[in-house]
Order: sequence, then C-alpha cells, then structure tokens
Amino acid sequence: MAEVVLDPIPFLNGGGSIGDPAVWNARWVHAGGDAVHHTALVRAVRDASGHLTSLRGVLRNPSGDQAETQAALRASEERLRRALEAAQNGIMLVDRDGSLIFVNRALRRLLGYGREVPMHLNEVAAPERLDQLTGLVASRAWADVGGGLFETGLRHRDGSTIEAEIALAALREEDGTVVLIEVHDLTESRRASDAIRQMADYDRLTGLPSRDLFDRHVQRAILDARQTQACVAVILLDLDRFKLVNDTLGHASGDRLLKAVAERLHQYLPSPHIVARFGGDEFLVLAPQLPVPAAAEGVARRVLQALSEPFPHEGRLLKVAASAGVALFPQHAEDPEALIRIADGAIHLAKDDGGDCFRLGTGIDSASARDRLSLEADLREAVTQHAFEVYYQPQVDPMSNELCGMEALLRWRHPGRGSVPPSDFIPLLEETGLIVPVGEWVLEQSCQQMQTWITDGFRPVRMAVNLSPRQLMVPDLGRVVRGILDHTGLSPELLELELTETTASLTMDAVIEVLHELHAIGITTAIDDFGIGHSWLSRLRQFPVQTLKVDRSFISGIDQSPGDRAIVEAVVALGHVLGLTVVAEGVETERHIDLVRELGCDLAQGYYYSPAVSALAMADMMRLGTTYSQAA
Ligand code: C2E
Ligand code: MG
Ligand code: MG
Repeated sequence: MAEVVLDPIPFLNGGGSIGDPAVWNARWVHAGGDAVHHTALVRAVRDASGHLTSLRGVLRNPSGDQAETQAALRASEERLRRALEAAQNGIMLVDRDGSLIFVNRALRRLLGYGREVPMHLNEVAAPERLDQLTGLVASRAWADVGGGLFETGLRHRDGSTIEAEIALAALREEDGTVVLIEVHDLTESRRASDAIRQMADYDRLTGLPSRDLFDRHVQRAILDARQTQACVAVILLDLDRFKLVNDTLGHASGDRLLKAVAERLHQYLPSPHIVARFGGDEFLVLAPQLPVPAAAEGVARRVLQALSEPFPHEGRLLKVAASAGVALFPQHAEDPEALIRIADGAIHLAKDDGGDCFRLGTGIDSASARDRLSLEADLREAVTQHAFEVYYQPQVDPMSNELCGMEALLRWRHPGRGSVPPSDFIPLLEETGLIVPVGEWVLEQSCQQMQTWITDGFRPVRMAVNLSPRQLMVPDLGRVVRGILDHTGLSPELLELELTETTASLTMDAVIEVLHELHAIGITTAIDDFGIGHSWLSRLRQFPVQTLKVDRSFISGIDQSPGDRAIVEAVVALGHVLGLTVVAEGVETERHIDLVRELGCDLAQGYYYSPAVSALAMADMMRLGTTYSQAA
C-alpha cells in the first residue's frame, strides 16, 4: 500500500467533482514513465475555510485490466532489479528485521559470494558491527535528521572484515519499510590514505620513522619521563665521510650504505629506543626512560660502536665513522625541537674534535653553529687574503740523525685567533670543497720551496705533501701535479704524496690509475696514519705505495703498551716484506726514538726532532745540519 498526494486543480479543471471519500480506478504514471492501474481510495483535504487544497489517496490492489497491470509491474520491477544488479557500487535491500531482500552482484562479489546469496544482515555484518547495522536499519533515526552516511565493517565470507562506507535510504513499501543500503568499499581509499600517512611518517629509503613521527615519540617519552622522574636523550648523528661515498661511488651506492647504516642502528638500538632518519646522512636516536643523565653517554657510545664495524659494500669494506650530539630532557630542553637543536650544536663540537666521537649539548643553542659559520666565512676570506702558510717538519733517519725528507703541513694565521690548527679547519675545507684550490696551493708552494732550497745549495730531500681524498677526486689531478712539477722545476722523485685511510676505503679505479701514472714519472706515495683503519691492508697491492707512516697513536704507546709495540713491529715487518720505507710518526721522546730504532723504522718524524716550522726556520735547521736531535 502506498500513499499519494495529488494536486486537485487539474482534476477539477477537467470537470470532476469529489465525494468524500471516493474510490477511483485510475491509470497512474510512475515518475519512471511506467503506467500502472490502481484502485485508489481518495480523500479531499480542505483548509480551515473549507477550500480544497489537495487530494490524498491510498493506492489499493491493482484493478481493471489486472493481467496488463501486473505484467507492467513485473516489467518495471525487473528493469529496476537489473539496474540495481548492474550498479558498480554494492547495493542491498534490507527489511526491518534484517532479512536481505536483495543483494546486487557488486556486493556479492565484494563479500565473496558466488551463486549463493546471503540471507540476513547478520551474515554480512562484521560481528562487532552487527549491532550498529541492525540498529540503523531498525531505528531509521538517521532518516529524520537527513544523514544516512556511516562507516561500518562488513564481513567477507572468509571471515575477514571489509571497511565500508554505507549510504542508507528508506523505501516505503506496502508491506513495511525497506532500507536500501549502498555500500562503498573503503579498502582502497584506506590503503591510499595509509600509504600517505606512511609516507609522512616513515622515510622512504630506510623505512625508519621520519622527523615528524620521531617528534611525536619524543613528546610521548617526555610525558612519561615527567611522571617517572626519568631522563630522555635525543642523539643526533652525522656520518663523517658520507659525502665522500656519494661523490666517489655515486648516489645509488650512497643510498645502499644509508640503508645498511639504518639497519645496523636499528639492530644495536632495539625498542624502546627509536631510530629515525633526519635527512641526508643524519640520523636521530631517542633513548627514553633513562634513570640518570649519564646513561645517555652509554647509548651514545653504543651508537658509535654500531658504526665502528666496517660495512661490507659492493665487494669492499667501508668504514663509516659518525659524530654525535646528545641533548637531554630535562637538563637541556623540554621539547623535541629544542632538544634536536641542542644536539645539533653538540654535533659540531664533536666534529671540531675530529669526529668519530660524541659531545653532550650545553643547553646553549647553536652557539657553536654560529661559530662554525663565522669560521667558514673567515676561511673563504683566508683563501683570497693568502692567510695560509706552509710549515715543514723534518723526517730523520734515526740511525744517522740525517735529514732525509720533510712533510709540508698547512697553517692558518687567523687575524683574531692566531694560528689555527689544521684539525680545526681541514675538515671544513674538505666539506666546502675549498681543499681543492688550497691543496693545490700547498703543493705548488712546497715544490717551489724545495726547488728554491736546492737552487740555494741545500742537499735535495724528499718533500711529502698531504692529499685529501677530495683532491684525488679532481679528474685532472695528474695534469695538475705534472703542471706544478714542470712549473717549479722540481724533480718528480722528490715529491711524495701522502694518502689517508679514507682514500683506501673509497678510492675508485680512476684514482688508482692516476697514482700509477704519477708513479710512472717517479712520484712516490705514502700511506699516512697507517694502522688505525683496516682498509689499507687489503688494498696495498693495488696502490703504487712506497712508504708507510705508522700512526702517531702507536708510537705514543710504544714504551708502555706491548700491543702498540707489537703493531709497530708488525707494520715494520709488513713494510719491509713489501719493500717499503717505514716512517714512525709522532716520535716525542728519547725512549720513543730508541724503540723506533730497535724496531727497525727507517725514518722518524716528531717533536723529538722538531715540530713543523716555517720555511725560514727550516732553512736555518738545514744550514746547521745537526740540530735535529733536540725538540724545538
Ligand atoms: P698528518 O699528515 O698525520 O700530520 C702529522 C701531524 O702530527 C701534524 O699535525 C704534526 O704537527 C703532528 N705531529 C708531528 N709530530 C708530532 C709529535 O711528536 N707529537 C704530536 N702530538 N704531534 C705531532 P698538524 O700539522 O696539526 O696536521 C694535522 C693533520 O692535518 C695532518 O696529519 C694532515 O692530515 C692534515 N693536513 C695538514 N696539512 C695539510 C695539507 O696541506 N693538506 C691536507 N690535505 N691535509 C693537511
Ligand atoms: Mg701527513
Ligand atoms: Mg699522519
């Protein structure tokens, strides 16, 4: 049974009159265009003054040509059914008690039904959502407030839950109220929004939490720590030589290394620590619930330890040291941003101290960052103002005390700070790329100086010049070095290039080729600071090496530590087996020189003989000839 409301005007205009109530047998035209015959019981509706305002009728059973009417009805229903069946969205018709009158193909497919059709709402509702759904269908309160859109869960036939959005509409039918439920599968859009959230919260390359998510973890940790009177540490970590990997081995390689670093950190710092990527080669570590501030140092040490083992990388072993800055809640700051800023300030202190170490924040934001910026500006000025000077440190045969060579060491006369040691500015020169022109200048200056001394009648000795890995990456290094020799007239045999550990771990074939090319014209190569890394051992044969310089740290321990002594002994043995000259660096005392002699080092360099001195002082020393036996 359905109620209809009619406009009386056309009827009255047609000459009709209305009894009250009246039974009509009429042909009705559906909005959809289908005609049906119905008997209608019609009542006139009048206003207070008795004027007819509308006709209200209740359609009864079809009458008249019943067969025709019913056929038309069936055809109409069939068309409707087909339309619903073919709809892209899932559709079901549910009656008041939850029976499913109709479930279309899209919905059957979504819920995993083939030929069989679910019969009741409790088959298609996720168990925890059944009450919600039956409630919606039964109460229809939503229809009165106009909104029929809900999120719910439906049950797939395999038992899984499908997140869905449903739109409900009440249909009035003669035998009660039927609710039409249109189902929109949210799985895809959920997946998309989850993916977006994942992108915002996690770093794509390493899969580690992003800065945003890290901040939220820190906030949470601070809240917890306030209650338990604990400390929270935020550690910022910067890989010391990552840029070099990127520059020499390429970005894809750099990416792989970052992933390996991320995995290593994750492995060394399991939950409740959080490891996040800050961007580039910087990582963040959160250590929550520390009982005492000093515990942060243990975590920082673990971080550095995690990175101290070399990384197997494309058939070689890469050493990746890091600098770390540590900031503490509540000692330094009380929010994630300030903690990270303070950790960042501390990291620069660690870098200034040579890297591969950590420093605690001071609570004074970015003072050292400012310091560093001004240092960098000063450095750029120093290049144009010629504020650099080359000093020379003698290399002496410990048996005869004869001068056999010297090392050129850069000095910077800073207008306000005086002489700044290379450890403070060489890393900055390297980072800014200024090491390339400055290094070239050192090379030119020292070759020129040696040639001048020779012209002045001094006995020719070998000049050792440090080359940073960055300089080795300059494609025309071979041409530059040959140009300087041509230009200064220095014989190639008198030039030695000192390479560091980093060079061994990163160098590409092209660099090895250049060194061989330079070796072919007589230039020699020394390995500086030998013994502190592992990289050279496996690569010595690939390089045209003639000299090993035993790192200062072993010489300084040689008189106390049997381990250091054994290392020096082993390096000397290795060097001599390979036909190399072994130089002991950092010889400071009589005892050192005795042991160096005893262990068979070919040359010694250090304060025992002389620190690095200006060219003038060096000339004086050479003139006097025998004064190397005293520390200056
Ligand atoms: P290095 O090449 O290993 O140079 C030896 C360093 O040890 C020098 O420090 C030298 O002054 C110091 N030293 C020498 N004898 C002793 C000693 O008996 N005791 C102690 N405690 N130290 C001693 P310096 O001049 O501060 O240079 C530090 C580093 O800076 C050098 O280490 C080198 O790697 C780098 N460097 C210096 N000049 C240049 C340059 O022109 N180019 C490049 N690329 N690097 C340079
Ligand atoms: Mg050196
Ligand atoms: Mg050295």
